Amino acid sequence: MLLLKSCPKCKGDVVEERDHYGSYRQCLQCGCLRDMQTLAKPQPVSRRRERREFLAAAS
Ligand SMILES: [Zn+2]
Repeated sequence: MLLLKSCPKCKGDVVEERDHYGSYRQCLQCGCLRDMQTLAKPQPVSRRRERREFLAAAS
């Protein structure tokens, strides 16, 4: 889905995409990324960090 002039930074065109973790919007002009479901789902970044801490504690 393409959203014209929806970028909060540069007022560029934003495309809505979907991946394994949910929907996000990316600006075609400046590349600005916005996660659509930040509050609804845990972030993959923090999940990876927890895994790393678990491995560090186990070794
Ligand atoms: Zn932009």
